[in-house]
Amino acid sequence: MLIDSHCHLDFPDFDQDREQVLNCARMSDIQGAIIPSIGPENWQRVIQLCQAHHQLWFALGIHPCFATKESLAQLEELEKLLSGLPSKLVAVGECGLDGVNSPLPMPEQIQLCLEQMRLANRFDLPVLFHIRKAHHHLLALLDREPLKAGGVVHGFSGSTQVASEYLRRGLYLGVGGVITYPRASKTRTAVSSAPLERLLLETDSPDMPLNGHQGQRNEPQRAALVLQELSQLLDLPYSSVAQVLSQNHIRLFKRLS
Ligand SMILES: [Zn+2]
Repeated sequence: MLIDSHCHLDFPDFDQDREQVLNCARMSDIQGAIIPSIGPENWQRVIQLCQAHHQLWFALGIHPCFATKESLAQLEELEKLLSGLPSKLVAVGECGLDGVNSPLPMPEQIQLCLEQMRLANRFDLPVLFHIRKAHHHLLALLDREPLKAGGVVHGFSGSTQVASEYLRRGLYLGVGGVITYPRASKTRTAVSSAPLERLLLETDSPDMPLNGHQGQRNEPQRAALVLQELSQLLDLPYSSVAQVLSQNHIRLFKRLS
């Protein structure tokens, strides 16, 4: 099952043409998407969107860039939603740590992330991580609270060494538009050195435009272009890379099927 494993299709950017965007994705053989949430403000929106569409699944969590002083207290509501294991729920997220753009100081972000990792372990769900300039903090958290059902560093950008630290702790790397930029040579090298069995495909739409599409809204159909770039980078046929990534999605997100 070839899907866009990280796509904010519930965002207002898609209000005018959401169905069309999904159809275009299908025509590019991207058969569905996982819609991560950012916090209580869109939990119900992603649930409703995914329950109304055959090939959409969701994750529930609090994103570090949208976290507030109230976020820790809101975990109780998150726990309640997760405990029902609603249909189409596949992961906790997105959660994580942002060393550039979060309103919360790092110690509070760490606490919030750790609590969400504990919830994931409690309900045997994988975690979608957003990580920016905080790899060492997340690696320490993963040692403190190893993940039972694994997780993915979404939109991975970093060195081969950082990648190997995540891989050693059982995580997957989310491969997105970053690898389409020649200047991202560090990330391109890291991704091509990782086992193909540990990579996931994503776009992070509407963000993270691909090279050549700067300034445009990103869309799930472009996951096919990311895959094309990846297959060129690895010097492997598109179809065999697609097949392995499909299996990876199903292995990590057990509730997809
Ligand atoms: Zn995201």
